[in-house]
Amino acid sequence: MSEINRADALRYMGFRGLETVDERTSALVDECEKKLLEAAKPRFVSRVFDIFRDGERFFLGENGVELLGEDIKNHLKSCEKAAVVCSTLSADTDKFLKKQELSDALSGLISDGLASAYAETVSENALSELLGQMKGYNATWIFAAGYGDFPLEQVSDLLALVDAGRKIGVTCLSSGMLTPCKTIVGVAGLSEKPLNIAEKSCASCKMQGKCEFRKNGTRCG
Ligand code: SF4
Repeated sequence: MSEINRADALRYMGFRGLETVDERTSALVDECEKKLLEAAKPRFVSRVFDIFRDGERFFLGENGVELLGEDIKNHLKSCEKAAVVCSTLSADTDKFLKKQELSDALSGLISDGLASAYAETVSENALSELLGQMKGYNATWIFAAGYGDFPLEQVSDLLALVDAGRKIGVTCLSSGMLTPCKTIVGVAGLSEKPLNIAEKSCASCKMQGKCEFRKNGTRCG
């Protein structure tokens, strides 16, 4: 099975489902997928912190970075620990996407959608690998900086916490944009207690890899 969730990729491309794609486009998606998988060099890095609470305030580690915004605190409310997770498809993927875009607009659009879906898979794989080292823990899905009221300005804090520049070549431009562009950085909660379905990550689920929701580009929660 491909590492790229086809239903997710088609959604990013603007299609409404697998059945809405004609044979010729489907063949082009296959071709772009093959090229993308050859060009991309997925990498990830993560680090686990105890969550310290001071009244309403949440910190990653004692005297560590304060997490701002109500949404991230709500996301971590059931958790004792949190992982900063950063994953990227690499600068080679950026070059590949540019080349595809310049050679043909449709190939560019398809490749970009595939890369977005692939970036999500790599991010989930990063969390799965981390959970493999944390027996007995469940994880929430990764809450990205810039999502809800979790400020985009915290991206550079998160990158610094995992040393993402040195380890996997990810940096943040002054505009707040991440480079390479197909990069995901965020925070997942970790708990030894069961998490409810709306907050738990697929990485924590025994259905991972055989889930019908995921095959169709949706989720259960
Ligand atoms: S059932 Fe599927 S969508 Fe829901 S958490 Fe498990 S793998 Fe993810």
